Amino acid sequence: MKVYLDNNATTRMAPEVLDAMMPFFNDQYGNPSSFHTFGSNLMEYIEKARQQVADLIGADPSEIFFTSGGTESDNTALFFGGETDPEKPGLITSVVEHPAVLKTARYLEQAGHPLGLVKVNSSGSIDLDSLEDLVSGKTGLVSIMKANNETGVIMQIKEAAEITHRAGALFHTDAVQAVGKIPVDVKAEEIDLLSLSAHKFHGPKGIGALYARKGIKLKPFMHGGHQEKGMRSGTYNIAGIVGLGKAAEMARNFISEEALITSALLEKLESGILKGCPGAVIVGTEAVRLPNTATVLFINVESEAILTLIDFAGISVSSGSACSTGSKDPSYVLTSMGISVADANTAIRFSLSMYTSNEEIDYVLQELPPIIEKLRKISPYA
Ligand code: PLP
Repeated sequence: MKVYLDNNATTRMAPEVLDAMMPFFNDQYGNPSSFHTFGSNLMEYIEKARQQVADLIGADPSEIFFTSGGTESDNTALFFGGETDPEKPGLITSVVEHPAVLKTARYLEQAGHPLGLVKVNSSGSIDLDSLEDLVSGKTGLVSIMKANNETGVIMQIKEAAEITHRAGALFHTDAVQAVGKIPVDVKAEEIDLLSLSAHKFHGPKGIGALYARKGIKLKPFMHGGHQEKGMRSGTYNIAGIVGLGKAAEMARNFISEEALITSALLEKLESGILKGCPGAVIVGTEAVRLPNTATVLFINVESEAILTLIDFAGISVSSGSACSTGSKDPSYVLTSMGISVADANTAIRFSLSMYTSNEEIDYVLQELPPIIEKLRKISPYA
């Protein structure tokens, strides 16, 4: 059996999304920016998709700019925030952000923007007092993720936005892991800028959007043609945009139903793991989490070994750590929650989707406990 539980890395594209995209790989191949009707008629599909994305997050279509995905949206927001006002060069983000935000923030710090990093508590939620201490009249932008990709912890975005606005700064959220999984409302949550990415909610890869509240005079991150009101140049990826729109429409229609199904399966998975694998610890249980994500510490058992054996069993999951050229870095997300390096190196992330079935969870609960038991027996730490 093949079981895919790595949906926070990417999701399977919905067949309905592929169907919606197909005409634009075939006979509808024009360039929407062309003068002739063969091309320019396609603009209506771009605008429909813009409406669908806007509807999913409670925005106005004029506030949606298509990008190549979460990374570009995050970069655009941070570069803009860093440059928006010379009197406010400061940037603030949190220690648990995705590298698309954290590395961009570090880059901007090198370029002369003072950087403040908000701490998280042991449950993985941002420490609002730490934000309050860092933000000042010199802060141009605060960027706090809506939900963490590793732990699934949902952050207190509205409260963070309020603190940010009291100091006169703009508020950006990387909502790449949240949009399509839980309700997001840019107006109710007082969000100025928001990043989203289609491939995290059953849309295609390489397409996303940046929401910029009306009144914000966004600066182009990519220079070139006139697309997206000159804010994001490059020939329209029309198939991708239509796919994003369709995925957004589907997410809006099924979000509550899907959350109920995935959260019931997640609960079954978590309680089955706790029962079948003594000593397992679920991360972030004190916080509100996404309905699809569980990171589990299998104390004293190295995640690398688990990943290898579980992969043999046909189960795709991921660990929190980044492995590169033989050296293994523990997850900075987990260590910043106060989890020791040794324990962080035992983490496995399970992330579900609307395509996850009860049978698949049964299969994981059948295969995983003997793997953990076997590894525990040969563990030098046990
Ligand atoms: N932000 C978060 C929280 C993510 O999880 C990811 C992808 O893993 C990204 C940004 C980057 O998105 P994209 O793959 O669309 O560039």
